[in-house]
Amino acid sequence: MSEQQDKDQRHKERMARKKEIVDQRIAAAQEERGVLILLKGNGKGKSSSAFGTMARAIGHGHKCGVIQFIKGRLQTGEFLFFKDHPQVEFHVMGHGFTWETQDRNQDIEAAKQAWEVAKRMLADDSYRMLVFDEMSYMFKYGYLDVNEVAEVISQRPLMQNVMISGRTMPEELEAIADTISKILDEKHAFRQGVKAQAGIEF
Ligand code: ATP
Ligand code: MG
Repeated sequence: MSEQQDKDQRHKERMARKKEIVDQRIAAAQEERGVLILLKGNGKGKSSSAFGTMARAIGHGHKCGVIQFIKGRLQTGEFLFFKDHPQVEFHVMGHGFTWETQDRNQDIEAAKQAWEVAKRMLADDSYRMLVFDEMSYMFKYGYLDVNEVAEVISQRPLMQNVMISGRTMPEELEAIADTISKILDEKHAFRQGVKAQAGIEF
């Protein structure tokens, strides 16, 4: 056997072993239910990951609900793209840009209204996927009670998927999450002086 053939053969055997292990894992994961996914960390890609996954769900015909808990100054591409989609109910809550608002009571009122909408969706099994974008700030500022939110999310319909984004996640949500992804910030164009641009940042 030539050196190349020997290498090919070893590669084939390694791949066969790998496939066996993967097949065993696939066979073991048989539970069918919705999951709670948390997208956290300081790197860029949390909201865009949530909306990318939502596009997947839409492709499969699933009805989706979105609540953006923080309203930016500019309309986002995801809002403009999904707002009229027949399978999507899209809410942008909050008053103005949170870091610029001075009115705490107004922010609390907006958070409570958003939570009422969220609770309605979390009780309705026709929504197969819910995205609560930037919800974690509501806990950080004490606008929503994390224990109540965790309790309601735990009681949601069996097949409903929920994705929550935000830089930091409270322990109470991490405890009940199925999947947690932390996006690290290694580099960001903003620090090199690149202005936020449509289609990338918003
Ligand atoms: P994206 O919406 O692009 O997926 P994100 O949801 O992970 O970003 P957020 O914390 O919600 O990030 O911040 C929203 C905005 O701030 C986006 O415009 C994003 O590009 C920008 N941003 C995210 N991370 C950083 C960072 N490390 N430095 C500077 N700007 C950032
Ligand atoms: Mg975001």
